[in-house]
Amino acid sequence: MIHHLNCGTLHPLLAGRFVAHCLLVERADGLLLVDSGFGTADLDDRGRRLGRAFTSAMRPNLDPAETALAQVEALGFHASDVRDIALTHLDLDHAGGVSDFPNATVHVYDAELEAARNPKGMEHGRYLREQWEDARFATHAAAGEEWRGLEAVTVLADDVLLVPLPGHSRGHAGAAVRDTTSSDGGWVLHAGDAYFNAGEVQTPPSCPRILQVFQRLLAQDNAVRLANQERLRTLVADHPDVRVFSAHDASEFEALNS
Ligand SMILES: [Zn+2]
Repeated sequence: MIHHLNCGTLHPLLAGRFVAHCLLVERADGLLLVDSGFGTADLDDRGRRLGRAFTSAMRPNLDPAETALAQVEALGFHASDVRDIALTHLDLDHAGGVSDFPNATVHVYDAELEAARNPKGMEHGRYLREQWEDARFATHAAAGEEWRGLEAVTVLADDVLLVPLPGHSRGHAGAAVRDTTSSDGGWVLHAGDAYFNAGEVQTPPSCPRILQVFQRLLAQDNAVRLANQERLRTLVADHPDVRVFSAHDASEFEALNS
Protein backbone atom coordinates (compact mmCIF):
# COMPACT_ATOMS: atom_id res chain seq x y z
CA MET A 1 0.00 0.00 0.00
CA ILE A 2 1.36 3.40 -1.00
CA HIS A 3 -0.03 6.59 0.54
CA HIS A 4 0.65 9.92 -1.16
CA LEU A 5 1.22 12.69 1.41
CA ASN A 6 1.75 16.41 0.99
CA CYS A 7 4.24 17.24 3.75
CA GLY A 8 4.51 20.97 3.07
CA THR A 9 2.59 23.44 0.91
CA LEU A 10 4.64 26.29 -0.57
CA HIS A 11 3.63 29.43 -2.45
CA PRO A 12 6.84 30.53 -4.22
CA LEU A 13 6.61 34.03 -5.68
CA LEU A 14 4.95 34.04 -9.14
CA ALA A 15 5.09 30.24 -9.37
CA GLY A 16 1.69 29.11 -8.06
CA ARG A 17 1.20 26.45 -5.41
CA PHE A 18 3.79 23.77 -4.72
CA VAL A 19 3.33 20.63 -2.67
CA ALA A 20 6.02 18.55 -0.97
CA HIS A 21 4.96 15.14 -2.34
CA CYS A 22 6.04 12.30 -0.06
CA LEU A 23 5.14 8.61 0.05
CA LEU A 24 4.33 6.42 3.01
CA VAL A 25 4.77 2.81 1.92
CA GLU A 26 3.43 -0.10 3.97
CA ARG A 27 5.96 -2.90 3.46
CA ALA A 28 6.12 -6.33 5.07
CA ASP A 29 9.06 -5.26 7.25
CA GLY A 30 7.80 -1.84 8.32
CA LEU A 31 6.97 1.58 7.00
CA LEU A 32 9.05 3.40 4.42
CA LEU A 33 8.85 7.14 3.95
CA VAL A 34 10.03 8.59 0.62
CA ASP A 35 11.07 12.21 1.18
CA SER A 36 9.96 13.88 4.38
CA GLY A 37 8.92 17.50 3.75
CA PHE A 38 9.18 19.82 6.71
CA GLY A 39 9.44 18.45 10.24
CA THR A 40 7.97 19.61 13.51
CA ALA A 41 11.24 21.33 14.49
CA ASP A 42 11.18 23.31 11.22
CA LEU A 43 7.76 24.71 12.09
CA ASP A 44 8.61 25.72 15.65
CA ASP A 45 9.19 29.40 16.16
CA ARG A 46 7.40 30.35 12.91
CA GLY A 47 9.85 28.50 10.73
CA ARG A 48 12.97 30.30 11.97
CA ARG A 49 15.08 27.18 11.53
CA LEU A 50 14.35 27.36 7.78
CA GLY A 51 15.83 30.86 7.55
CA ARG A 52 14.45 34.12 6.26
CA ALA A 53 15.77 33.75 2.70
CA PHE A 54 13.96 30.45 2.20
CA THR A 55 10.70 31.39 3.93
CA SER A 56 10.36 34.75 2.15
CA ALA A 57 11.06 33.26 -1.30
CA MET A 58 9.17 29.98 -0.93
CA ARG A 59 6.44 31.09 1.53
CA PRO A 60 5.73 27.72 3.19
CA ASN A 61 2.38 27.19 4.97
CA LEU A 62 4.07 25.73 8.07
CA ASP A 63 0.94 23.76 8.97
CA PRO A 64 1.63 21.18 11.73
CA ALA A 65 -1.05 18.89 10.23
CA GLU A 66 1.04 18.61 7.04
CA THR A 67 4.13 17.14 8.70
CA ALA A 68 4.87 13.51 7.89
CA LEU A 69 4.73 12.74 11.62
CA ALA A 70 1.19 14.13 11.96
CA GLN A 71 0.04 12.25 8.87
CA VAL A 72 1.67 8.96 9.94
CA GLU A 73 -0.14 9.25 13.27
CA ALA A 74 -3.43 10.21 11.58
CA LEU A 75 -3.20 6.93 9.65
CA GLY A 76 -2.96 5.07 12.96
CA PHE A 77 0.78 4.41 13.03
CA HIS A 78 3.53 5.49 15.42
CA ALA A 79 6.73 7.34 14.54
CA SER A 80 8.67 4.22 15.57
CA ASP A 81 6.86 2.19 12.87
CA VAL A 82 8.83 4.13 10.22
CA ARG A 83 11.86 1.88 9.73
CA ASP A 84 13.32 3.47 6.59
CA ILE A 85 13.36 6.85 4.91
CA ALA A 86 14.57 7.24 1.31
CA LEU A 87 15.42 10.80 0.32
CA THR A 88 15.65 12.11 -3.23
CA HIS A 89 18.09 14.70 -1.92
CA LEU A 90 18.84 16.68 1.22
CA ASP A 91 17.40 20.11 0.36
CA LEU A 92 15.59 21.54 3.35
CA ASP A 93 12.09 21.04 1.93
CA HIS A 94 12.78 17.29 1.59
CA ALA A 95 14.86 16.39 4.66
CA GLY A 96 13.04 18.24 7.47
CA GLY A 97 10.93 15.28 8.59
CA VAL A 98 14.01 13.12 9.25
CA SER A 99 14.41 14.39 12.82
CA ASP A 100 10.84 13.26 13.67
CA PHE A 101 11.74 9.59 13.02
CA PRO A 102 14.88 8.90 15.07
CA ASN A 103 14.56 5.11 14.71
CA ALA A 104 14.63 5.15 10.92
CA THR A 105 17.54 4.37 8.64
CA VAL A 106 17.91 7.22 6.14
CA HIS A 107 18.85 6.12 2.63
CA VAL A 108 20.52 8.59 0.27
CA TYR A 109 22.72 8.45 -2.78
CA ASP A 110 26.31 8.76 -1.53
CA ALA A 111 27.16 11.87 -3.58
CA GLU A 112 24.30 13.76 -1.93
CA LEU A 113 25.45 13.17 1.64
CA GLU A 114 28.98 14.16 0.59
CA ALA A 115 27.59 17.41 -0.92
CA ALA A 116 25.54 18.19 2.20
CA ARG A 117 28.45 17.51 4.56
CA ASN A 118 31.04 19.30 2.41
CA PRO A 119 29.16 21.89 0.34
CA LYS A 120 30.97 23.75 -2.43
CA GLY A 121 30.04 27.06 -4.12
CA MET A 122 26.28 27.39 -4.58
CA GLU A 123 25.71 24.35 -2.35
CA HIS A 124 26.35 26.57 0.68
CA GLY A 125 22.95 27.61 1.95
CA ARG A 126 20.85 24.89 0.35
CA TYR A 127 21.31 22.29 3.09
CA LEU A 128 20.26 22.63 6.73
CA ARG A 129 22.55 20.44 8.82
CA GLU A 130 20.32 20.53 11.92
CA GLN A 131 17.66 18.56 10.04
CA TRP A 132 19.79 15.47 9.53
CA GLU A 133 23.05 15.61 11.49
CA ASP A 134 21.81 13.05 14.05
CA ALA A 135 20.34 10.69 11.44
CA ARG A 136 21.51 7.12 10.92
CA PHE A 137 22.41 7.13 7.25
CA ALA A 138 22.81 4.27 4.79
CA THR A 139 24.49 5.63 1.66
CA HIS A 140 24.16 3.94 -1.70
CA ALA A 141 26.37 4.04 -4.79
CA ALA A 142 25.40 2.88 -8.25
CA ALA A 143 27.21 -0.32 -9.25
CA GLY A 144 25.96 -1.44 -12.62
CA GLU A 145 22.33 -2.19 -11.82
CA GLU A 146 19.65 -1.13 -14.26
CA TRP A 147 15.94 -0.40 -13.82
CA ARG A 148 13.73 0.39 -16.84
CA GLY A 149 16.78 1.48 -18.84
CA LEU A 150 18.13 3.74 -16.10
CA GLU A 151 21.12 3.26 -13.81
CA ALA A 152 19.84 2.24 -10.38
CA VAL A 153 20.84 0.90 -6.98
CA THR A 154 18.75 -1.42 -4.83
CA VAL A 155 17.98 0.03 -1.42
CA LEU A 156 15.55 -2.48 0.12
CA ALA A 157 14.68 -6.04 -0.98
CA ASP A 158 13.41 -6.09 -4.58
CA ASP A 159 10.93 -3.25 -4.30
CA VAL A 160 12.83 -0.04 -3.43
CA LEU A 161 15.60 1.47 -5.55
CA LEU A 162 17.39 4.78 -5.90
CA VAL A 163 17.73 5.99 -9.49
CA PRO A 164 20.51 8.61 -9.76
CA LEU A 165 19.14 11.73 -11.46
CA PRO A 166 21.72 14.39 -10.53
CA GLY A 167 21.71 17.97 -11.73
CA HIS A 168 19.27 19.70 -9.37
CA SER A 169 21.69 18.77 -6.60
CA ARG A 170 24.99 16.87 -6.73
CA GLY A 171 23.62 13.52 -5.59
CA HIS A 172 19.95 13.90 -6.47
CA ALA A 173 18.15 10.60 -7.16
CA GLY A 174 14.66 9.38 -7.90
CA ALA A 175 13.11 6.71 -5.69
CA ALA A 176 11.46 3.77 -7.47
CA VAL A 177 8.98 1.78 -5.36
CA ARG A 178 6.98 -1.27 -6.35
CA ASP A 179 3.53 -1.48 -4.83
CA THR A 180 3.64 -5.06 -3.54
CA THR A 181 -0.04 -4.85 -2.55
CA SER A 182 -1.38 -3.88 -5.97
CA SER A 183 -2.51 -6.66 -8.27
CA ASP A 184 -0.39 -5.45 -11.19
CA GLY A 185 2.71 -4.98 -9.01
CA GLY A 186 2.96 -1.48 -10.43
CA TRP A 187 5.97 0.76 -9.95
CA VAL A 188 6.03 4.43 -9.07
CA LEU A 189 9.03 6.71 -9.56
CA HIS A 190 9.27 9.68 -7.22
CA ALA A 191 11.48 11.91 -9.36
CA GLY A 192 12.07 14.50 -6.62
CA ASP A 193 13.18 17.82 -8.08
CA ALA A 194 14.44 16.35 -11.38
CA TYR A 195 11.60 18.37 -12.88
CA PHE A 196 9.01 20.79 -11.46
CA ASN A 197 6.15 20.76 -13.96
CA ALA A 198 4.23 17.74 -15.26
CA GLY A 199 4.64 18.95 -18.86
CA GLU A 200 8.41 18.54 -18.71
CA VAL A 201 8.29 14.75 -18.97
CA GLN A 202 5.79 14.76 -21.84
CA THR A 203 6.85 14.67 -25.50
CA PRO A 204 7.19 17.42 -26.65
CA PRO A 205 8.02 18.96 -23.27
CA SER A 206 6.44 22.14 -21.93
CA CYS A 207 7.04 24.23 -18.82
CA PRO A 208 6.05 27.75 -17.77
CA ARG A 209 8.98 30.15 -18.33
CA ILE A 210 9.13 31.17 -14.65
CA LEU A 211 9.65 27.53 -13.62
CA GLN A 212 12.34 27.03 -16.25
CA VAL A 213 14.26 30.00 -14.82
CA PHE A 214 13.65 28.86 -11.25
CA GLN A 215 15.04 25.38 -11.93
CA ARG A 216 18.09 26.70 -13.75
CA LEU A 217 18.89 28.96 -10.79
CA LEU A 218 18.62 26.05 -8.33
CA ALA A 219 20.58 23.57 -10.43
CA GLN A 220 23.95 22.38 -9.21
CA ASP A 221 24.73 21.26 -12.81
CA ASN A 222 22.15 22.46 -15.33
CA ALA A 223 23.42 20.46 -18.34
CA VAL A 224 23.29 17.24 -16.33
CA ARG A 225 19.82 18.18 -15.05
CA LEU A 226 18.51 18.65 -18.60
CA ALA A 227 20.06 15.37 -19.77
CA ASN A 228 18.28 13.56 -16.94
CA GLN A 229 14.95 15.18 -17.86
CA GLU A 230 15.47 13.71 -21.34
CA ARG A 231 15.99 10.27 -19.75
CA LEU A 232 12.75 10.71 -17.81
CA ARG A 233 10.87 11.61 -21.01
CA THR A 234 12.15 8.37 -22.55
CA LEU A 235 11.06 6.42 -19.46
CA VAL A 236 7.57 7.94 -19.54
CA ALA A 237 7.21 7.25 -23.27
CA ASP A 238 8.58 3.70 -23.20
CA HIS A 239 7.27 2.42 -19.85
CA PRO A 240 3.63 3.40 -19.35
CA ASP A 241 3.48 0.87 -16.48
CA VAL A 242 5.64 3.19 -14.34
CA ARG A 243 3.86 6.11 -12.69
CA VAL A 244 6.32 9.03 -12.68
CA PHE A 245 5.78 12.16 -10.60
CA SER A 246 7.82 15.01 -9.16
CA ALA A 247 8.01 16.46 -5.67
CA HIS A 248 6.35 19.81 -6.17
CA ASP A 249 3.76 19.62 -8.97
CA ALA A 250 0.35 19.97 -7.28
CA SER A 251 -1.59 18.50 -10.24
CA GLU A 252 0.46 15.28 -10.17
CA PHE A 253 -0.10 15.01 -6.44
CA GLU A 254 -3.84 15.53 -6.71
CA ALA A 255 -4.15 12.93 -9.48
CA LEU A 256 -2.42 10.33 -7.29
CA ASN A 257 -4.00 11.29 -3.99
CA SER A 258 -7.61 11.10 -5.20
ZN1 LIG B 1 12.34 20.67 -3.51
